[in-house]
Amino acid sequence: MLSKKKGVGQPTPFLSIVIPAYNEEENIKDVIEKSVEFGKKLGKPCEVIVVDDGSKDRTFHICKELAEKYPELRCIRHERNKGKAGALKTGFKEAKGEYIFYTDADNQYDINELLQYINLFGKYDILSGYRLNKAISPFRRFASWLYNVIARKLLGVKARDIECAFKVFRSKVIKNIPIKTKGFMVETEILARATVCGYSIHDIPVHHYARRKGKTAVSPLKEALRSLLGLYLIKKEILKIKK
Ligand code: UDP
Ligand code: MG
Repeated sequence: MLSKKKGVGQPTPFLSIVIPAYNEEENIKDVIEKSVEFGKKLGKPCEVIVVDDGSKDRTFHICKELAEKYPELRCIRHERNKGKAGALKTGFKEAKGEYIFYTDADNQYDINELLQYINLFGKYDILSGYRLNKAISPFRRFASWLYNVIARKLLGVKARDIECAFKVFRSKVIKNIPIKTKGFMVETEILARATVCGYSIHDIPVHHYARRKGKTAVSPLKEALRSLLGLYLIKKEILKIKK
């Protein structure tokens, strides 16, 4: 199962699990332990990379403590908050796995649901989760629906649920995709660039759970307005690539 990267001599993990975390002290232990256990169930070498995005609480401290117990865990700290895009960018750069998966640090997804999709890993460049139920407020649910309709039309992205934080990439694919956006537009940028490059994207259904601990960093109205500007900027970037 352990493959070797050419010329490096270091074993390559099958899967890197990347987790961006900002002020998640109440959630991070659970998420890390579930990820480590998931690796054991999978029976293939996995690494877990937590990117602490400049948290002001004990998130990083908890990660460091757990890293002493779990050798497969690595914690990286941003000195200042860079937003979810910045955190994912760092995580993807650090990841050494053949496949790279990311999910949120707030227990809104269950990594165990990934087990049933393992046989799809080699078949597509990207597996993109879609939430069977969106455990968010009615306003955010509506905004998310509208956003997906506009983004799909404007950017030609075929994925059902662009912002779903449950995606798997072939390592080469995600490492080839530049991330220039900030904050929560990151999923849109990745899928838009992947579409232009002709990478295959396959939807996988996942459950979504209400956030029970900690606070969302999303301010719904502000984020809705920011998203419209973000879509315009991504479209401009994409047109540049197409020329
Ligand atoms: N996050 C981050 N940096 C930020 C804001 C959020 O790394 O500046 C992380 C956060 O800890 C979580 C994920 O991004 O793991 C999604 O954030 P959140 O749950 O606030 O968004 P929502 O699920 O409400 O869309
Ligand atoms: Mg969340």
